[in-house]
Amino acid sequence: MAKMYYEKDCDLGKLTGKKIAIIGYGSQGHAHALNLRDSGCDVIVGLRKGGKSWAKAEADGFKVFEISEAAKQADIIMMLINDEVQADVYSAEIAPNLSEGNAIAFAHGFNIRYKRIVPPAGVDVFMAAPKGPGHTVRGLYVNGKGVPCLVAVEQDASGKCLDIALAYIAGIGGARAGIMQTTMHDETETDLFGEQTVLCGGVVDLMQCGFEVLVEAGYEPENAYFECIHEMKLIVDLINKGGIAAMNYSISDTAEFGEYVSGPRVLPHEQIKANMRAVLADIQDGSFAGRWIAENKNGRTFFNSKRDNLAKHQMEIVGKQLREQMLWRDEGSASGDKNLDSASN
Ligand code: NAD
Ligand code: MG
Repeated sequence: MAKMYYEKDCDLGKLTGKKIAIIGYGSQGHAHALNLRDSGCDVIVGLRKGGKSWAKAEADGFKVFEISEAAKQADIIMMLINDEVQADVYSAEIAPNLSEGNAIAFAHGFNIRYKRIVPPAGVDVFMAAPKGPGHTVRGLYVNGKGVPCLVAVEQDASGKCLDIALAYIAGIGGARAGIMQTTMHDETETDLFGEQTVLCGGVVDLMQCGFEVLVEAGYEPENAYFECIHEMKLIVDLINKGGIAAMNYSISDTAEFGEYVSGPRVLPHEQIKANMRAVLADIQDGSFAGRWIAENKNGRTFFNSKRDNLAKHQMEIVGKQLREQMLWRDEGSASGDKNLDSASN
């Protein structure tokens, strides 16, 4: 069993006298910065001069510096810019300003796992990874709750790295929910695997196939959208709350019987698992990471064309029209898509 930590295991006092620089002010960045400050920590923000978030962070009352200056001033540096740009920003602006006794932290292990960033000995390296989007990290904190987090210590130079990491996570509210210990190695590989095979890659392709089969068979696209895409959330919410048995309890026995009969027919387990193992092998040997880094260096031509094609797919067009017509978005109110987003977080 993975080790769990809660508020009683965390001492925010371990951050006393330490200046924390949050690098980046996007989804995670703004949430970490605001929550830590509300928890009594000394927080500054490091950004690109002229970037969009500079004014936003200042309006939220933070002292904002260029990344190199923020790194120089800070004792703890949290990297919350996009994973694919972190290595370049690290070598140009952070590495020269890291000193012995500092800590560098991440919310995802990608750059450490694939050795894109190799911090010097003498510096603590840890991960504080909320298992939810930044806006939920902030929203729950304000309501006295928190998002569960993963903690990992990659390099314990001070001998106190775990205590500092746990204090940091308490500061963003994660200890209110629970903190699970892992390694940046395992977090990175399981995170990439989950999003590629099940959560994003798997689910999107499954929904798309179902939608296409019904439409190609002559059914109304609106019907196909409802059955194969819209209802996904209702099913997943039931599983999230009570497991698969609870979901099966809520659906009809006909649906449950169909699940047993047709699930393995659509997804023959041995073949699907062999495909998944091939994806896992690419994650483990670094070939997926290499491909993603190359894609960014090459102007993201594959990525952008996929994104453009998806936007033109009938399921997206029909879905948009339906969402605009229907009242389902916020338990009956016709307010904007934002509510749908936060409801689904
Ligand atoms: P984001 O896209 O919301 O924000 C990234 C910020 O970095 C933006 O403000 C952007 O302007 C800035 N930025 C981009 N390139 C830059 C550059 N070259 N120099 C300086 N600033 C730059 O990203 P996010 O979702 O907050 O992700 C940040 C980290 O948190 C990543 O490591 C990610 O894996 C991790 N994470 C994200 C989530 C999530 O659900 N969003 C959950 C857990 C962990
Ligand atoms: Mg993830």
